[in-house]
Amino acid sequence: MASYLSVVIFLVGVLTCSHVDAATQPNIVFIFTDDHACQSIGAYGSKINRTPNIDRIANEGAVFLNSFCANSICGPSRACVLTGKHSHKNGFYSNGRGPFDGSQFTFPKVLQKAGYQTAMIGKWHLNSDPTGFDHWEILPGQGAYYNPQFIGKDGRRQIEGYCTTITTDLALDWLEKREADKPFLLMCQHKAPHRTWAPELKHLNNYEDVDIPEPATLFDAWDNRSETLAGNAMSIDQHFYYAYDLKVHLPVPFATQRELRLKDGEYRRMTPAQKMIWDAAFVPRNKAFLADPPTGKDLVRWKYQRYIKNYLRCIDSVDENVGRVLDYLDENGLTENTIVIYSSDQGFYLGEHGWYDKRWMFEESLKMPFLVRWPGHVKPGIRSEKLIQNIDYAPTFLEVAGAEVPPEVQGTSLVQVLENPATEDWRKSIYYHYYEHGGEHQVPRHEGVRNDRYKLINFYSNDGFDLYDLKADPAEMVDVSGLPAYSEILTLMKEELASLRKQYDVPPLKK
Ligand code: CA
Repeated sequence: MASYLSVVIFLVGVLTCSHVDAATQPNIVFIFTDDHACQSIGAYGSKINRTPNIDRIANEGAVFLNSFCANSICGPSRACVLTGKHSHKNGFYSNGRGPFDGSQFTFPKVLQKAGYQTAMIGKWHLNSDPTGFDHWEILPGQGAYYNPQFIGKDGRRQIEGYCTTITTDLALDWLEKREADKPFLLMCQHKAPHRTWAPELKHLNNYEDVDIPEPATLFDAWDNRSETLAGNAMSIDQHFYYAYDLKVHLPVPFATQRELRLKDGEYRRMTPAQKMIWDAAFVPRNKAFLADPPTGKDLVRWKYQRYIKNYLRCIDSVDENVGRVLDYLDENGLTENTIVIYSSDQGFYLGEHGWYDKRWMFEESLKMPFLVRWPGHVKPGIRSEKLIQNIDYAPTFLEVAGAEVPPEVQGTSLVQVLENPATEDWRKSIYYHYYEHGGEHQVPRHEGVRNDRYKLINFYSNDGFDLYDLKADPAEMVDVSGLPAYSEILTLMKEELASLRKQYDVPPLKK
C-alpha cells in the first residue's frame, strides 16, 4: 500500500511538473461584443434597459468607468486588444485596410506557449485567419445574425439559428471538450449589437409597449464645435435606410432614394418559419407607421424608438448568453479560478448628438465597457475611475498567466489596479487616434488626449483643435479652446498630447 501511494505521489509530481500549474494560472474568459455602449449596461447606470447577467460580473468584481479604446472602430480595436499596441504599431488602422498581420506578437500566442489551451469563437473581423489559437471558429467579415456561417480550420459551415446563441453554444462546446487539467483562454466574441440590429425572434416584442427615454442631445445642431461635426453622415434624422436599419419592408412613399437604397439582408437570410414570426411582430407596426406617418421632429423620434428598441433587444440576447457562460463556470467548479471580462470593441451613439455609430473621440464612442471578475484578486463592488485602454488587455492577460510582457507592448497590465484600486501609480491621460477619412459616415481623421477632466481633439485634416471641459460640459456641446479662461489648459493639453505622441512613437500626421 505504501509503495502504491508513493508511486501515485510520484506520478502526480511528474504530471504537475510536466504541465503548467493550473492552480496558479487562472483561466481567462473574455466576452467581447461589437458596438455595445456603456449607456446600455445596468452597471454603468443605464436609464434605458437592464442587464442583470452582465451586471453580475460588476457586482462580483469591478467596473471601470473610464475605459477607452485607442481607435473607435471594429477591426482596429480588436488589433489593439490582441497586440497591446496602438494602431500605428500593430498596422491595422481601419476596417477597409488589412489584413491584420498575425505574425506579430499577440497575447494568445504567448498564452499558448505558457501552457494555455486557447480558443477564439465568433466575430474576428481582421481579414485574416486567427493565429495563436488551438481552436477557432469565426464569422466571415461582419457575420450575420440569422443562420450565420462560421469559418474554422476545416472550412465553412452554416448553422441555423441566432448568432449570439450559436456563438455561445460553440464556446460552451469547446469548454466541455477541452483538457480539464490545463488552464484555458476562451475569447467569445459576438456580432451583436452591431448594425443592422436584428433581434432574436423571442425578443421581438420586448419594449414594444414603452417609450425609451430620449437622450438630451437627440436634436444636437452641431454648432459651437469643429465645423466637421456638421458634415457627418450618421444622423438618426438623415442617414438610416428604411429596410436595412429600421426594418420597414413595406413601400415607404415619402422616403428618399437614398433611404431606400439598402435592403435588409438579415430578413432575406431567414427561413420561412423565422420570417413568419418576424412578420407577425413587424408588419402590424409598419402598417400603423405608414398609415399615419409622423413628420419633422416626430419622425426623428419615431426612428430613434425603432432603432433603440432593436438595439436593446439584441443586447437582451447578449445578456442572457453572458448568463449562460457564468452559469457554466459555476456548475463546473470553474468560477473561483477564472478571470471573466466583459467588454466591447468600442462604444456607440444611442441618439446622443443625434447620432448612431461610433468613430468620434466623444465620450459615447470613446468609452468601452470593461467589467471584470477575478475571485480572490478583485474585491467585489469596485467602481474604478482609473483611465484604462484596450492596449492594456494583452499585458494584463500575460501577467495573469505569469508570462513575460515583450517590450514592444505599449499598454500597461491592469493587475496592479485590479488588486490595489487605490494605487496612484497609474497613467494620467490616454491617447486616441482615428485614421479613416470620410467614408460612409463622413467622420474625419483625428487624434487627441483625454485626462480625468479635459479632452483635446485635433481634427488635423480639417479645422484643428477642440477642447472640452468634461466637468462643466459632460455632453461635449461646446468647444472652449478659444475662450481666454481656458488658454492655459489648452497649452497644457497640447503639451500632454505632444508628450503622448513621443511616448507612443506616433509618426508625423498625414493630412
Ligand atoms: Ca464595433
